[in-house]
Amino acid sequence: MSQTADIIIIGGGIVGCAAAYYLAKSGTKRVIVLEATKSIGHGGSCRNGGGVRQSGRDVRELPYAMYGIQHFWPTLSEELGVDVEYTQKGNLRLGKTETHLKKLQTLTDNAQSVGLGVEMVDAAEVQELCPYLSKDIIGASWCPTDGHANPLTTTLGYYKRALELGVQFFTDAPVAMLRKIRGKVRQVVLQDGTVLEAEQILLAAGYESRAIARSVGVDLPMTRLIDEMFVTEMEPHMFDIMLGTADADFYGHQAHHGSFVFGSECGYEEVTDMDDPSKLYTNSMTLSASCRAVMGYIPQLAEAKVVRSWCGWLDNAFDGVPFIGNCPDAEGLTVACGFTGHGFGTAPVVGYMLSQILHGEPTVVDISALAPNRFMPNK
Ligand SMILES: Cc1cc2nc3c(=O)[nH]c(=O)nc-3n(C[C@H](O)[C@H](O)[C@H](O)COP(=O)(O)OP(=O)(O)OC[C@H]3O[C@@H](n4cnc5c(N)ncnc54)[C@H](O)[C@@H]3O)c2cc1C
Repeated sequence: MSQTADIIIIGGGIVGCAAAYYLAKSGTKRVIVLEATKSIGHGGSCRNGGGVRQSGRDVRELPYAMYGIQHFWPTLSEELGVDVEYTQKGNLRLGKTETHLKKLQTLTDNAQSVGLGVEMVDAAEVQELCPYLSKDIIGASWCPTDGHANPLTTTLGYYKRALELGVQFFTDAPVAMLRKIRGKVRQVVLQDGTVLEAEQILLAAGYESRAIARSVGVDLPMTRLIDEMFVTEMEPHMFDIMLGTADADFYGHQAHHGSFVFGSECGYEEVTDMDDPSKLYTNSMTLSASCRAVMGYIPQLAEAKVVRSWCGWLDNAFDGVPFIGNCPDAEGLTVACGFTGHGFGTAPVVGYMLSQILHGEPTVVDISALAPNRFMPNK
């Protein structure tokens, strides 16, 4: 294993892989990616629902989410040389009650205030957009520029292209801590004691970033939460729209090969045994709760057969938006974590902006609201 690099990236998820690719593409010669597990994309990056959406986001995230959809996703398959299955056919966020509609209206007003093309539609318009949906739906928010993509081919596409450009990836390389040398974060210490050194370190290890950052005095307030997905047998083509609900009881889409991929929570996620997060167990309640939710919105899927379910960890930032940027109290350390269950859709633009930050350049849009040190005591 090389022991020195210009930049060491901790975490081989889509954020680490995309940053590695854009760094190598822009001329950085020695980039190392360290991944704790045996496989690249083992975290949320290859387990997620593939939603590529702007709607429903915090306004602090919207400018870069919108930039990513305009400038990265449409050409990503050609850029990476793999079919990322990007499908830009819109996102309907469904409501069945007046309380749901109020929630959707607030999200819509917020998004419109920063220029996103999203609107409220009534029951008839919902049926026109997607005739397979239940007549119980009384309205929805509709964002025609949202969509979905394939998380596996996208994540592994970035990995493959980064490898081709000379990035070195080491799997089975769990990082234990960071160390400062003469006041600057420079060393990365693996659990087996191996020490690597770099000019700059990018920490993109999901929830585990919190413990690693703490070793150099940086706190990134976030918690961990489990989320489940399931996939059905292939069904005849029904629709290409991405679906979500005001109640967040399910989200999902029909993949290009015909299977439906849905994600959901049962409401008991916070009591999951978190003692050993490497044990990724689905629980006995979520799948049935998810199926009930899906059937309540798409009655035609009542007979669809579920072939597999799985789960993954979310890294939930305290205020729901990620930490992206340099750490002023730990020179040499840049972080990108806390994506709170919606970091897949923004990963291409985030990877690109990380390469800009690491080169000391301004980012394509202002992301100062996501500064890692935004939680400063005000007393
Ligand atoms: C079930 C589920 C559904 C989701 N659905 C969507 C969706 O529809 N749309 C969307 O935009 N987002 C979604 N997300 C969120 C999305 O998957 C994540 O926000 C995104 O993948 C974050 O990428 P990442 O690279 O930061 O994290 P990860 O993919 O978690 O990568 C972090 C990597 O760091 C590694 N690591 C951890 N500790 C160490 C260590 N000590 N040393 C070295 N490496 C370490 C991990 O093994 C992992 O591979 C979903 C997530 C889940 C779990």
